Amino acid sequence: MQKIRLILLTICLSVYSTYGQTSFRFQQRNIKPGNKEHFLIQLTSGQKSTSLPITIFHGIKDGPVLGITAGVHGYEYPPIIAGQRLIQAINPQKLKGTVILVQVANVAGFSQRTPFLNPLDGKNLNRSFPGNKQGTITEKIANFISTKVIKRSDLFLDMHAGDAPEDLMPYAAYYHHDSKSAISEQGKKMAIALGFDHLIVFNTTSKKYMKATEPSLYCSAEAFKKGIPSIDIECGKLGKADEFSIQKVVDGVLQLLNHLKMHPDKKTRLVPPLIIKQRFYHSSEFNGIFYPNKSSGEYVSKGMKLGHITDFFGRHLKTIYAKQAGILLLILGTPPVNKGETIAVIGKVN
Ligand SMILES: [Zn+2]
Repeated sequence: MQKIRLILLTICLSVYSTYGQTSFRFQQRNIKPGNKEHFLIQLTSGQKSTSLPITIFHGIKDGPVLGITAGVHGYEYPPIIAGQRLIQAINPQKLKGTVILVQVANVAGFSQRTPFLNPLDGKNLNRSFPGNKQGTITEKIANFISTKVIKRSDLFLDMHAGDAPEDLMPYAAYYHHDSKSAISEQGKKMAIALGFDHLIVFNTTSKKYMKATEPSLYCSAEAFKKGIPSIDIECGKLGKADEFSIQKVVDGVLQLLNHLKMHPDKKTRLVPPLIIKQRFYHSSEFNGIFYPNKSSGEYVSKGMKLGHITDFFGRHLKTIYAKQAGILLLILGTPPVNKGETIAVIGKVN
C-alpha cells in the first residue's frame, strides 16, 4: 500500500511537472511541451534574400535552453547532416528544457557550394557577429541568430568542420576568460561531454573581440560575451560529408544533452581528452601552389617539414617548417595557396 501511494505520488508529480512546463514562443508560434516544430525564417536585404531553417525541440519538462548552430560555414557538411539526424534522435517527449537547432545558418553558402563565405554578399558569417538588422544579408543572419537564438539560450554550441581546402582533425573547444571562471568551467565540462579526444581552450582573456565596445565577430564568442557557456565542434575535413564525422557529431550532441540531464543517452562514453591551450599558426608569404608533407592529426617535432610552396612554373618559393612540437590540427589539403592564408595550425599538447 505504501508502495502504491508512492507510485501514485510519483505519477501525480510527473503529471504536475508536465503541466508546469509552459509553451515556448518563437516567431509568433507557441510550441507545446513535448513537441518539435520547424521554422523557415525569411530574411531580405535589398535584392538579396535567404532562408534560415530552424528546428525547435520543446521538452515535456522544464530545463535549460541549448542553442546549436550548424552551417555557419555552408561548405562544412558533417554538422549539417548530423542536424538532419538529430531531428529524429532528440525526442521532445523525453526532453527537459528546449533545444533550438539552426540547421544551416548560411543556406546560400551551402546551396551554391561556397567555402567560408556567403556568396550573396561575399561576407564570412563567422566574422559578422553580432550582425546588423539593417545590414547586408550576412549581417542580417548574424543579427537574427544573436537576438532570436543566442539571446534565448542558456548554453550554446556552434558546429563546424574542415572547409573545402582544410585537412582538419576533429576536436571540441570551449571559451575561457579569466574573469568568467564559472561559465568557462561549465563550458569545459560541456565540451568534455562531447566525447572528443582533443579539447582546445579558446582563451579570450586578452582578445579584442571580448571588449564591450568591439564586435564579437564569431558566433560562439557572441554567446560567451553574453555570459553563456559556449563550446565549438570541429569535425570533418575537406568539405566532405563522411559517415564517421557525421555520426561523431550526432553522438557528441546526444552525450552533451545527457551530461546536461536534458535527454537520456545510452551510448554515453566519456574520454579524458588531451587538452590544447596554445595554437601556433603558419601562414603563407606567397601566392602559388602548396605541397603538404603531413596530414592533420600527425604529431610533429619543431623544425619538421610541413610542406613547400612553388610558383606556377614549379620553382621553389618556400619550405614550411613546424614552429613548435605538437599535433597538426589543420593543414592546407588542396593545392591553391594565397599570401596571408593559414597553411597549418599546430596544437601544443599539455
Ligand atoms: Zn567553420
